[in-house]
Amino acid sequence: MSTFDLCFEQLLADASARNMRRHVRPLAAAAAGRIVSEGRELLNFSGNDYLGLARHPLLTERAADWARRDGAGAQASRLVTGTLDAHAQVEAKLARLKGTEAALLFASGWQLNASVLPALIQGLGARGQVEVYTDKLVHASMHHGCQAAGVKQTRFRHNDLAHLDRLLTDRAAPGVRRLIVTESVFSMDGDRADVPALAALADRHGAFLYLDEAHATGVLGPQGMGLSGLAPGGVDLIMGTFSKALGGFGAYVAGSRALCDFLVNTCSGFIYSTGLPPSVLGAMDAALDLVPGMDAERAHLARLSARLREGLQAQGRDTGASSTQIVPAMVGDAGDAVALSARLKDAGMLAVAIRPPTVPAGTSRLRIALSAAHTVDDVDRLLDALARDPLRGGS
Ligand code: PMP
Repeated sequence: MSTFDLCFEQLLADASARNMRRHVRPLAAAAAGRIVSEGRELLNFSGNDYLGLARHPLLTERAADWARRDGAGAQASRLVTGTLDAHAQVEAKLARLKGTEAALLFASGWQLNASVLPALIQGLGARGQVEVYTDKLVHASMHHGCQAAGVKQTRFRHNDLAHLDRLLTDRAAPGVRRLIVTESVFSMDGDRADVPALAALADRHGAFLYLDEAHATGVLGPQGMGLSGLAPGGVDLIMGTFSKALGGFGAYVAGSRALCDFLVNTCSGFIYSTGLPPSVLGAMDAALDLVPGMDAERAHLARLSARLREGLQAQGRDTGASSTQIVPAMVGDAGDAVALSARLKDAGMLAVAIRPPTVPAGTSRLRIALSAAHTVDDVDRLLDALARDPLRGGS
């Protein structure tokens, strides 16, 4: 073992001692809403396949068709020779559905947030001339993007627009551009931002609004195109992913033509990364054909989510401010959350425990994510298993 490995082993031992060691565990795919672990099929309450599209034949067949037609890879970055008709087709279809002038594809949501934010922040002004206001609970990729830009974030209290308004009013300074960075559905809490109010507030303060719609895309808003659809034209930059409700992989920016062209010219994550492969584009294209017509699935998912929340609350469990398909069952202590997750697994259900640093200390939880592929019976099985489990830990 090298001295470097000894260093890594020490850090891992420290993480284990704090109950924070993470592992990747191979699982096998199964029917939508299910997963196979060590040969055993489990109900999957930890995936983000909210509409059950990951195995939809239209997606898998178009992925295979486009790979056969255009090859396994794009062969170069987009600005070199890596832009195919397929990229342009998906970007145009997406912009049409989002009601924006343009759209731009990226390899992943993480890569997008981590590279678009620095391009944007640096493009809007030199250090000291740009201020960034982030919701306290935004995803790690957005913090990473702000850190990469070298900008100090001003954090506003979670979903507290009065607090944001006060900060923007108190700190108003001539010549300083301001950016508000937040999510429409929060990934670990399943609550929503009031997007029309945010858009109005940003407008009042002349601030740029950056909205992550990773968990709303496909699920909420007109035609499932996200909550930005409730404030048409009010969001300056919408980002979303194809990796959750849209069943595949990759991410997008939707916004003005000037914004997208600016990113093509300045965003390192776009410029220096190989274009998305045809198979991924095929699945994206098929998902965009299906999602607008899936109102019945969205209504079913909303009903399942309400049933789960009500059932958990009747057991005395705290579900936070969830109002979507993401329903946290708060536990508090990290060890208790892991133990509860293990007992559910024994009962045939996968609901992974989420611990710090992903969530704040003392708020470890099961993050239960429902899919339109689940049935009422699936949700009731989960509720029954939890009802048999003694409540432990904090709130
Ligand atoms: N934004 C949010 C809010 C997320 O929850 C995630 C992933 N969980 C991402 C971005 C990153 O997306 P991707 O998985 O496509 O990298």
